Amino acid sequence: MALSKNNPYSLGDDLTCGICEGKLRNGQFLKCFHSFCDQCLRQEKKREPERPKSASFPGIGNSAISVAQGVFRVATNFFALDPDGEEIRGLKLPACPICKRNGKAETHDSRQYFFPNIFAEMKIGSVDFTDKLRGKAESSDTLICESCQENNCKVTSFCSDCKQFICATCVVAHKKLSVTRNHSIVSTNDIKNGKNLVDVDNAHTYSTCSSHPSSLSTKLCTICQVAICTDCVSSEEHRMHPSIDVKDGIKPFLDEASTLVSRFTPSRFDKIVVAHLEHKKAIADKAEELRKQIIEDADIARAELLQQLEDKKMSMLAKVSRVESDSTKATNELIKSLEELRIKATTAENYVDVLKRRGTVSNILMARRGGFVDLLKDLTADIANKESSKTQGTLRLHTTSFPFPRYQLKWYSLQYSE
Ligand SMILES: [Zn+2]
Ligand SMILES: [Zn+2]
Ligand SMILES: [Zn+2]
Ligand SMILES: [Zn+2]
Ligand SMILES: [Zn+2]
Ligand SMILES: [Zn+2]
Repeated sequence: MALSKNNPYSLGDDLTCGICEGKLRNGQFLKCFHSFCDQCLRQEKKREPERPKSASFPGIGNSAISVAQGVFRVATNFFALDPDGEEIRGLKLPACPICKRNGKAETHDSRQYFFPNIFAEMKIGSVDFTDKLRGKAESSDTLICESCQENNCKVTSFCSDCKQFICATCVVAHKKLSVTRNHSIVSTNDIKNGKNLVDVDNAHTYSTCSSHPSSLSTKLCTICQVAICTDCVSSEEHRMHPSIDVKDGIKPFLDEASTLVSRFTPSRFDKIVVAHLEHKKAIADKAEELRKQIIEDADIARAELLQQLEDKKMSMLAKVSRVESDSTKATNELIKSLEELRIKATTAENYVDVLKRRGTVSNILMARRGGFVDLLKDLTADIANKESSKTQGTLRLHTTSFPFPRYQLKWYSLQYSE
């Protein structure tokens, strides 16, 4: 199946010149399938700055080989591009101005190709041609056969190969002769009714011989690779050159081109597209998997972090309680020892009171000898000591960087100092 049946858009549909933006005149394709008037390309080539020597198109060499295989038409056009008679091999073609504008200019050493835009030739040519023919067909009653030129020979048809209005007799004669049997013949009524000659199959129409304008070039000179007429075959120029039927000459080229395009099957493009789509899908799947993984990991990390924060909180609360209880215990002991001191002091006070009021001399002397005053001094020192001693221990908050050391988040730790 041909690609074009699936893909209606073709670069051959554009009939405007990429340089003058007018209707293509003698349109030529470059290898990117952008089209330009032959004349516009020639001017573009003149404008183009000189390329370094190595920048000539190696493609021309290849084209020369193709020419030898029978693409006489290409050869004609190369000369049309450069009428100064420059050798095909030495001919330099301009880079495509449209591609250059779009930043897709070929590198200097890339090959350039050059071939006639036959789409434009067919469409523009046949529209003009059909218009002209239609005018003529309108008055076909007054025309006489351009082939037999018999008087009173009424025109009934147009042969698009002979490019002649012909009579019914000539139509029959066409069918009898093997050379004209395959000519495309359209009735004048069809032309009048608007049949566009673009639909007429005029494949491989012979061109008119440039040396003998009344003859068609039906032969191919195998040496010069140009189409020539039978008169040319025996001319001075080609007499020694073997010539073959021009249609046989172009057949290998057409066959090779057909074979090559027949391999441009849609399935090959589809396969590549499918591979890319599969890749796209694989990337999307992988991305989705990674997104899930990240969310899952973050959820786990968050749970772990929350647990760590919770643990930290609980341990700090426990520490506060422990510090508080240690402090309470110590304070209680201090109060208890103070109470004991107070009892001793009260007892000592009562002792002195009793000694003064009722004590015997012997008791008093014994108390003095027993060091009672020193005991009182010790108690005095103990009391002074208790007075000067401050309450012990405090709760303080210190900043640390739990749980993210790198981020210096503030957290508080507790310290109990004695
Ligand atoms: Zn142009
Ligand atoms: Zn281009
Ligand atoms: Zn006739
Ligand atoms: Zn004919
Ligand atoms: Zn000729
Ligand atoms: Zn020749």
